[in-house]
Amino acid sequence: MVWREAKGKRQEARGILHRASCILHLAGCDSPQLDAELLLAHALGRERTWLLAHPEYPLTATEEERFAALLARRQAREPLAYILGHREFYGLDFIVDHRVLVPRPETEMLVEQALAWARRERPDSKGEGTRNALSPDPYGQVSDLPLLADVGTGSGCVAVALAAHLPQAVVYALDASADALAVAAANAARHGVAGRVQLLCGDLLEPLPERVDVIVANLPYVRRDELPTLPPEIRDYEPRAALDGGPEGLDWIGRLLAQAPAHLRPGGIILLEIGAAQGEAASGLARQRFPQAAVDVLPDYAGRDRVLRVQT
Ligand code: GLN
Repeated sequence: MVWREAKGKRQEARGILHRASCILHLAGCDSPQLDAELLLAHALGRERTWLLAHPEYPLTATEEERFAALLARRQAREPLAYILGHREFYGLDFIVDHRVLVPRPETEMLVEQALAWARRERPDSKGEGTRNALSPDPYGQVSDLPLLADVGTGSGCVAVALAAHLPQAVVYALDASADALAVAAANAARHGVAGRVQLLCGDLLEPLPERVDVIVANLPYVRRDELPTLPPEIRDYEPRAALDGGPEGLDWIGRLLAQAPAHLRPGGIILLEIGAAQGEAASGLARQRFPQAAVDVLPDYAGRDRVLRVQT
């Protein structure tokens, strides 16, 4: 084992962490110290905070071996989320493995925008701008049951976060990959929304049994010729089918926009994650399919084009 100093002697967490973080740094990892801490905590079955409070903890041989195996995976640039088996997204913890894309912080924008729309801007809230369209009406009945579709749901992070924050909503979670839907099912169950997250396998919007108010999607949008230039974590480990957007990166987004008019309720909204360079092209596709709609592109926190919004 690479970081081992003296065979047979129980080593302290501190020293192991130091060497592990050097190894990850040399391997080109972005946050070697944090990764090392999270991996060691995982190997010990502890929280990272416990580990930081017990730097002198002497590892057993078994723990050391367990950690070595995890470290080797990260050294080979496997995404940390796959090794740990989970990732936080929109305040919820999601099961993640090689069958699905790792949830990204910028994708939280889709959830924010869909929630903002569902809470304030429902067209049938009849001008009562402040009314929460999702709250029960005075007679105790649920009004305006919103229907949402998350296309290319992957781990289900967007669909589950939406269902968790919209207790009256039904969310269709669609994916072409049955493998991905198995992960989404586990996540829906884990967060207690399995009854309101309907999993459907098929091509984009085709499996939808009814029209919806909100379509959100983080579809593959990487230009095919850019795939080889992506960091190894993405290029070598994440599902190609979740990344490859075709020659211009817009194959899936274009097809979704072509299908959408037949699946959206009047007054509905579409929110699509796009690449930083795709704002103009994606807007053009949207205007072609929805000539009457308000189309705009929202920037992420880094100021890059990130979400295409089509309000019909
Ligand atoms: N944001 C991803 C990346 O960093 C791309 C995800 C996608 O294609 N939907 O490459």
